[in-house]
Amino acid sequence: MLAEKRVITVNYQTSQSFTVREIKNRSAFTLSGCARVLEAYLLPFKNPRRSTVDVSGSVPHKKSHPGKVWLVGAGPGDPDLLTVKALRVINTADVILFDQLVSAEIRALFPVGTPTLCVGKAKNNHSITQQDLNQLLVEQARQGLTVCRIKGGDPFVFGRGGEELLELRQAGIETEVIPGITSASGCSTYANIPLTHRGVAQGCTFVTAHAEKTLDINWRALAQLNHTLVFYMGVTRAEDIASELCNAGLALSTPVAIIENGCRIDQRVLIAELVQLPQLVVNHAVKSPALIIVGQVVNLAEQLHPDYWQAVAAEADSQRLLA
Ligand code: SAH
Repeated sequence: MLAEKRVITVNYQTSQSFTVREIKNRSAFTLSGCARVLEAYLLPFKNPRRSTVDVSGSVPHKKSHPGKVWLVGAGPGDPDLLTVKALRVINTADVILFDQLVSAEIRALFPVGTPTLCVGKAKNNHSITQQDLNQLLVEQARQGLTVCRIKGGDPFVFGRGGEELLELRQAGIETEVIPGITSASGCSTYANIPLTHRGVAQGCTFVTAHAEKTLDINWRALAQLNHTLVFYMGVTRAEDIASELCNAGLALSTPVAIIENGCRIDQRVLIAELVQLPQLVVNHAVKSPALIIVGQVVNLAEQLHPDYWQAVAAEADSQRLLA
């Protein structure tokens, strides 16, 4: 087994000293600041904030007017990445149904008086089936409720938002979708990895590595695209991803990044080469949610880190002093 050639861990919770090679960890964002300002601006009436989430799911009283379902994208985790529209719906809904990918910081913004229900969706742990969930959404809207069905990232990117929208429209329920920042976009940005870069990657392809049995992916086509490849739900398939891409022609040394808990206070970014991907997952006990980014753009992470050029200058100075 090859040793990891280059691993950068960016953990936003800790702050360590750094060299040009090991990028300094730094808190890249402050949670909640902007979201709370927006909240105050948008809401003339004040809702006390909840600190813990009530998952009892008790449903408010039936109303005489028709209800509505909002399929809301929560983005990857940082509440500052919520859209103004998403926050408005969170604050005005009669009931909130959320899944596991909605971060604790965003859940903390749910108004205290609003009933909330966790509808699961962790791997192998669906607290409610998709069919039952669709039915629940229809029933709640038929009771005249305004329902906020909030999901991690964007509802239409591997989020089954299309399926829920179809069911609701078929049932004649008024439904609106609020897009969210998909994790590929949010997490890559917070990790200083541009998904496209002139002369490096002219395109980007999102791939799901989720499958009941074997992955049904055209690896040869993916390898030939010369795109940045972003794998969602890929942690447990790291070995397949690495071996299939290498067999399909990608160089073993192609840079890869794993972003775990992207855009959250415990974000970790691990960088290595494609051939090292499975070992990287094991060595660093990577857990879901995590994204895998494959492509030359990963190499830009180091140079684009806010502290990189300062470190280069400091190293040049120390070399001059030693000379
Ligand atoms: N609709 C979501 C994706 C749902 S699929 C979106 O647009 O982002 C679930 C997968 O998304 C996870 O297994 C993981 O690969 C990725 N993901 C979602 N949030 C993430 C986060 N904060 N950090 C890293 N990966 C994340």
